[in-house]
Amino acid sequence: MPADGQGCHAGAAEMEAAARMAGQSELLDQYAEDYPTGPHDKPQSMCPAFGSLRVGLRMRRVATVLSGSACCVYGLTFVSHFYGARRSVGYVPFNSETLVTGKLFEDIREAVHDLADPDRYDAIVVTNLCVPTASGVPLRLLPDEIDGVRIVGIDVPGFGIPTHAEAKDVLAGAMLKYARDEIQAGPVPAPEAGTSDRPTVTLLGEMFPADPVMIGAMLAPMGLAAGPVVPCREWRELYAALDCGSVGAIHPFYTSAMREFEAAGRPIVGSAPVGHDGTAAWLAAVGEAMGVAPDQIAAAQNAFLPAIEAALAEKRIEGTITLSGYEGSELLVARLLIESGADVPYVGTACPRTHAARADLDWLESRGVTVRFRASLEDDLAAMEGIKPDLAIGTTPVVQRAKELGVPALYFTNLISARPLMGPAGAGSLAEVVTAAMANKDRMDGMKAFFEGVGAEDTAGVWEGDPNLRPEFRAQHQKKLDKQARAAKAAEMI
Ligand code: SF4
Repeated sequence: MPADGQGCHAGAAEMEAAARMAGQSELLDQYAEDYPTGPHDKPQSMCPAFGSLRVGLRMRRVATVLSGSACCVYGLTFVSHFYGARRSVGYVPFNSETLVTGKLFEDIREAVHDLADPDRYDAIVVTNLCVPTASGVPLRLLPDEIDGVRIVGIDVPGFGIPTHAEAKDVLAGAMLKYARDEIQAGPVPAPEAGTSDRPTVTLLGEMFPADPVMIGAMLAPMGLAAGPVVPCREWRELYAALDCGSVGAIHPFYTSAMREFEAAGRPIVGSAPVGHDGTAAWLAAVGEAMGVAPDQIAAAQNAFLPAIEAALAEKRIEGTITLSGYEGSELLVARLLIESGADVPYVGTACPRTHAARADLDWLESRGVTVRFRASLEDDLAAMEGIKPDLAIGTTPVVQRAKELGVPALYFTNLISARPLMGPAGAGSLAEVVTAAMANKDRMDGMKAFFEGVGAEDTAGVWEGDPNLRPEFRAQHQKKLDKQARAAKAAEMI
């Protein structure tokens, strides 16, 4: 789907121009710097605001309020509950009048005051979706706190935040900034679960629940401990996260969160302890960043690398795999698959290329893998169709296309992200599911043969006569679209 002209990204340029006229230029410039687009305008992804909404909904004692068009809010709350939010999402509706007169902002302020009960909440997150952002609804003018309840206002427009992964970073960064200001202003409470007496490594990026535990075990021989995972699950964890010795950017796209950690003087280490090489390099990099003696680093490596090697040797993967996703862990998964024996010629990620992705990118490229950041659906499909892998791991439309072609396929988000990846627990964890899926080739071929001849796309199905194709209508419509595109291009130049 082209970025403009269809769906909810229609008129993104106009929305952005409106937002700039409404005084949002500084914010949009910061977003453009943090979340660079290109080579094309925008990857195809669900509403980005879902990322930040989910982060807020997963935090204890945090309320979330959306301000946006009713259809957007309906979609976002629907998906939240589909993913088990079990929490109400606040909504401040608006119409053209409340938007232009500034009454919407007053309504948001009133809603926040009504909601700010310190017995129930540590914080309230208010999110401007596309239209209120474009109209410049000034969430920065909300009070910082009401009766001890922190108020965090963020703008998460689809025309400024390319993916829902990066929207998580918008909220994580805003919360870290707030927590950093609190720390600078005076003493703050410890998290309910307590703090470690050893220096900690804060982990950036949502992971399988056992992964932080595994990472903690691997850090222990160096006298270190795993700190909180950001995005956090409770407000006080933000203080502990900032109080770390270094940050492991397990997912490399948390640009604004990394900015906060850097401002707090915390070194950032990219990549993650995946597979043999990844674990060896990550333990060394973290040890170095934390000033650990070389023999202690070697002790940690010696304690875990043989077990990882053994697990990788025991559970081999044979076959060619193409991989694409929008979680931010695509490069890590590719490393693990390759160390398990798979041939992975292509990795596409909707996330941008950042400094924290450097080590994984170098490792993959040195093995001849084509890595495409900000990959579009077309990139992912072209790779899958060109390579004809034994297995395509990808997003829903990639998996759908693969099945049409009789190529076994697995959903990245549901089936790969929901597995341990780190250390000995992660080594070999993908082999079972991947090998089982590859073994389905005969079934896929059987299914393809069964549906052979039923047509495809707009001629799919059983027709009484020939499908009523009107290519001339299509050509005429295409002409109109081309004309609109030319006019938009000309308008851009003016
Ligand atoms: S908030 Fe913006 S990107 Fe999200 S559904 Fe609404 S119009 Fe689309």
